[in-house]
Parts: sequence; structure tokens; C-alpha cells
Amino acid sequence: MQYDVVIIGAGPGGIFSAYELCQTNPSLKVAVFEAGHPLEKRRCPIDGEKIKSCIGCKSCSIMSGFGGAGAFSDGKYNFTNDFGGTLYEYIGKKQALDLMRYVDDINMRYGGEGTKLYTTAGSRFKTLCIQNDLHLLDASVRHLGTDINYVVLENLYAYLKDKVDFYFDTPVRSLAAEGEGYQVTTDDGAYTCGKCIVSVGRSGSKWMEEVCKSLEIPVHSNRVDIGVRVELPAAVFEHLTDELYESKIVYRTQKYGDLVRTFCMNPKGAVVNENTNGIITVNGHSYEDPAKQTENTNFALLVAKHFSEPFKDSNGYGESIARLSNMLGGGVIVQRFGDLIAGRRSTPSRMQEAFITPTLNATPGDLSLVLPKRILDGIIEMIYALDKIAPGTANEDTLLYGVEVKFYNMEVEVDHHLQFRYPGLYIIGDGSGITHSLSHASASGVYVARAISGQV
Ligand SMILES: Cc1cc2nc3c(=O)[nH]c(=O)nc-3n(C[C@H](O)[C@H](O)[C@H](O)COP(=O)(O)OP(=O)(O)OC[C@H]3O[C@@H](n4cnc5c(N)ncnc54)[C@H](O)[C@@H]3O)c2cc1C
Repeated sequence: MQYDVVIIGAGPGGIFSAYELCQTNPSLKVAVFEAGHPLEKRRCPIDGEKIKSCIGCKSCSIMSGFGGAGAFSDGKYNFTNDFGGTLYEYIGKKQALDLMRYVDDINMRYGGEGTKLYTTAGSRFKTLCIQNDLHLLDASVRHLGTDINYVVLENLYAYLKDKVDFYFDTPVRSLAAEGEGYQVTTDDGAYTCGKCIVSVGRSGSKWMEEVCKSLEIPVHSNRVDIGVRVELPAAVFEHLTDELYESKIVYRTQKYGDLVRTFCMNPKGAVVNENTNGIITVNGHSYEDPAKQTENTNFALLVAKHFSEPFKDSNGYGESIARLSNMLGGGVIVQRFGDLIAGRRSTPSRMQEAFITPTLNATPGDLSLVLPKRILDGIIEMIYALDKIAPGTANEDTLLYGVEVKFYNMEVEVDHHLQFRYPGLYIIGDGSGITHSLSHASASGVYVARAISGQV
């Protein structure tokens, strides 16, 4: 075998697998294959002036490369089993939390020191929420911020680069069982290894489906979350964000009994475009550096849609809705809450009259022409519910950007070592469908590295 361990994908799952292998078994020969660029070469060409929309780069610098989809993220590491994935179902709740804290310790040693850790423990907002039919989920969250997150990645790479063979711009085309191990094939040749960790994230979902088919790995259908990104003056949520930074709040709608939740809260942050396979959706981020902060806070309101047989393509459903918004608005659509309730589209002049300055240049339009009624009704109900704990949420000028879609990978059938029935084949991170977050994906990487080193 050329390598003891090959890791496919250099997102948080792959990076923390490599890191922990170096710690627990430094004699192992390890390689990481990554479809995208090294960190310093990752640059999205959209500058808002010369290049305004996606030009379909061979490798998308937002989603791919060292650091994975998390590289330019807000770097919010949530330590909780309540959301962000179901890793605990495989390795137990205590171990999952211990690993998330271990990852946090490493992040602190590699440049994150001094960043803030927020917690819901003992928060008075739990009571306030419950009194208003809202449910605040338990979590501690470390906010690295987009800037510090990048520094941590730089430092982790500096530590790993002489201990591990990195192959950048080298997508793995196929993976096959070979004797006692595995063979990965790239455009530059094939490599053999004793063990293989697959950590290809959301961007590798289509490839993952092919691998599962060829290795006959069973997968289970998953879900898609659809909604909008809300942007309002930071003062409206300040009492919550100052204490908790991010609050994950869940509401059950009275009309349909659907669950609507807040997601990815960015105090004093900016709304941004996200490109998933050429479809423009919306996301948000914020900086730790006060000089880069804005006067607005943004967060997503998402409704989870689980489909039952015979329909299997939940991601396709989400994509179709996002395409519709792209068709009408040429990208992301923005609408004032007051216009939505009045049943009219937002226009450039109505936007100019608003008392809030949008942080994303989106097309004023009508989200009711895009989002299914059931989803839109749920979002409107939740905005009124949030208005009770954060008065001002339901103001006329609150901005809604659409659509925000959270795609999920098919969930892969693995055992409690995150290993498929082929010994030595581990499937981790968001690509496994088991995790959906930085902390869970990173923790799954540490866990399999320890399993390979015989430590769990
Ligand atoms: C804009 C944005 C903001 C986010 N903010 C947060 C946040 O604040 N907090 C949070 O918890 N989560 C956040 N997330 C989600 C988080 O980034 C992911 O949950 C996390 O990165 C998953 O890690 P991963 O290692 O499983 O996969 P990824 O990070 O997706 O990494 C997978 C890597 O595998 C590579 N790859 C794919 N296929 C192949 C192949 N065939 N061969 C070789 N390489 C391949 C890809 O190029 C990619 O680099 C955000 C995501 C985005 C897009």
C-alpha cells in the first residue's frame, strides 16, 4: 500500500482526521486528496462590479479547497447534540460533546484564543421564549468569525503540511475495494491505501451517491430546509445576541403544526449570496473585528420538509424553488415584511423609503410568487411570534431575502465507528448525512482517527 490512510476531502472532517492521526499515530503515512485549491488560492471571482454572478469556476472557491465549505463561514462552532447533526446516535451523547470541546481546544491553540464562548445555560431567555410559545435550544457557541476562522485554518495547515501529503486540485474520481484496502483514482493516477476516510461534504454529495451505488452502500432519503433570511436593525435582537450570540429558537405553527426555526444568526453581520451548483441562494456571515461589522443582524427562518415515499428527491425540490427565485429576480429576491403582508411586491422605490439599508444587493420582488404557501405562512407566523420576544421583528421594514435552502446529503448506513461493512472504510462529516455543522463534522474526524489508532 502507498499510504496507510487516505482522506478524501480537506474540509473540517478531513482536517481533524488528519490532525488526530498525526497526534495519535505519527508513524502512519497519510495523504489528503482535495478537489479544490489550497487555502491561499481560494478566491471567488464575484466582486460585485466586473463579475456580478457565478461564472461556474471548475472548482468553487466558496465550497471547495482547504477548509471545505467552512473556510469563509462565520466560524460558529456549536457544542450541542440538539442540532448540527446526529453524531451522538452513533457514538453517544457524552462522547460527541467531549469531542466537540476537544476540537474547540485545538481551535483555541491554533489562533482562536480570545474569541467569545456564549451559552444558553441559565439564560433568562428560555423562560421568555416558552412564555411566548417559542423554544430556545440548549447550546454553547464559539464564535470565531470569518476572519479568525481563516487564521485557525492557516495555522492548522502549517502544522499538517510536513506530516501529511496534500494533493490539491485533485478530485478523486473513483473509490474501489482493492485486496485488503482501497484504491482511489484521480486524473493523475491511482493510489492504494489500507484505510480510507471519505469526508466530501455537501459539494461531494453527487460523487458520494455514485460511490454508494458502486460499493452497494445503503443510503436513506433525507430532508430539505426551505425559508428566508431575515435582516433587521441590530438593536432589535441586541438583548439576545449580546448574551447568546446565536439563539436557535423553534416554533410550531398553529396552522399546520410545522416546525419553523431560526438558523445561523449573524449579529452586526452581512447577508451574502451562496452558489450551490449554479443556483444562487442566500446565506449570512459576520466578523469578529468590530471595524467590519454592520448595523444589521441577520438570521434564517427555515421550515424542514421531510418527504415520504415514493418521492425521493428532497434536494431537487429545494433546488426547484431556488431556481424559481433566480428566474424571477435574476438571483436572490428581497422583500419588505410590510409589502409581503400587504400582498404587493417590493420595488426599488419602496426599498429606498425603508429605514434599513440592505447589506446585500438583491432584486426587490415578491416572495409569495416563489415560496409554497405552507412555508410562507409558517414564516409569517414565526415572525409575529418572535416580535413578542424581540419587538420590532415584525416591523414593515424588516427585510426578507429568498430563498435560503439547506440541502442535506443522503444518510449513509455506517456502524458506531462510522465505518461501513467494508473494514477500514469510514464515511464522515456532512458527506455522510450524519453531520450538518462545523463542530459535528470536525468531531467525526477526530473520532475516526482515534478508531483507526485503536483508541476508541
Ligand atoms: C457560507 C457557509 C457558512 C456556514 N457557516 C457555518 C457556521 O457558522 N457554523 C457551522 O457549524 N456550519 C456552517 N456551515 C456549514 C459547514 O461549513 C459544514 O457543515 C462543514 O464545512 C462540513 O464539513 P465537512 O468536512 O463535512 O465538509 P466540507 O466542509 O464541505 O468539505 C468537503 C471537502 O471535500 C472536497 N471534495 C468533495 N468531493 C471530493 C472528491 N471527489 N475528491 C476530493 N475532494 C472532494 C470538497 O472540495 C470540500 O473541500 C456553513 C456553510 C456555508 C456554505
